[in-house]
Amino acid sequence: MNVLEASHINKYFHDPAKFHVLKDMSFAIRKGQFTSITGKSGSGKSTLLYLLSTMDTQFEGSIKIKGEEMQGKSNKWLAEFRNHHIGFVFQFHFLLPEFTVLRNVMLPGLKRAEYSPGEVEHKAYTLLKLLGVEDQANKRAALLSGGQQQRVAIARALINDPLIVMGDEPTGNLDSKNTAIVFDLFRKLAAENGQTMIIVTHDDDFAGKSDHVIHLADGRVLN
Ligand code: ADP
Ligand code: MG
Repeated sequence: MNVLEASHINKYFHDPAKFHVLKDMSFAIRKGQFTSITGKSGSGKSTLLYLLSTMDTQFEGSIKIKGEEMQGKSNKWLAEFRNHHIGFVFQFHFLLPEFTVLRNVMLPGLKRAEYSPGEVEHKAYTLLKLLGVEDQANKRAALLSGGQQQRVAIARALINDPLIVMGDEPTGNLDSKNTAIVFDLFRKLAAENGQTMIIVTHDDDFAGKSDHVIHLADGRVLN
C-alpha cells in the first residue's frame, strides 16, 4: 500500500531569479518503508521534504498522502492533518527553549482531545527513555547539549504515533553511537508499528541500510 504518492512535482524559487529547483519528480513510498532522500548539498532535499510534509504548498503537481490530495487544502486543514499523521524532525531542532524537555515532547500530544494528559506524559517518558535522555526530562530545553536537544526533538516527532515520520538530517549533529540508536529506533518503528520513515541524510551508511533511496541530482530523482 502506498502511503505517499508524489506526481510530477515542479517547484520554482523566484528570488533572486527564477530557479527551477525540483523538476518533474514522481515517486511512491509504501507503508512501513524506511526511505532515505540523498543528494549533494543544494540538490533540493530540504525543499522536497517541506513539500512532502505539507509545510510548503507552493508547487506544481500532486502529493497524495493516504490517498488524499494535499494540494488545495487550507492551512488549518493541513495543520490538523500534520498533527494527526506526520511527525517532523527539523535539521535545527526548534525546541521551545524555556519549556522543560518533558513539556516540549508532550505539546503535540496535548493538542489531541482523545489522549489524556497522563497518557501523553507516560508516552513522553517512554520515548525519552528510548532515546537515552529521560534523565533530562525536567530541565529547560535550552540547558541541553545540541545532540541531546536533537534526541528530544525526535521524541517530540513520535509522540502522536504518526503514520509518517519525516526528518531533515535528524542525526546530523549526533555522534555515531547516538546515530545508531536513532537508526535502530526508526527501523523498529517501521518494522513493528508499520510507521513510514522519510529521512533526508547525507550519511551513506544510514542511506545504505534503508529500504528505499530517493537520490536527487540536478533537481531530478535519479532512478
Ligand atoms: P539541500 O537540502 O539538498 O541542501 P535545499 O533544498 O536547501 O538543498 O536547496 C536547494 C536549492 O534551492 C539550493 O540551490 C538553494 O540555494 C535554493 N534555495 C533554497 N531555499 C531557497 C529560497 N527560499 N529561495 C531561493 N532559493 C532557495
Ligand atoms: Mg537541506
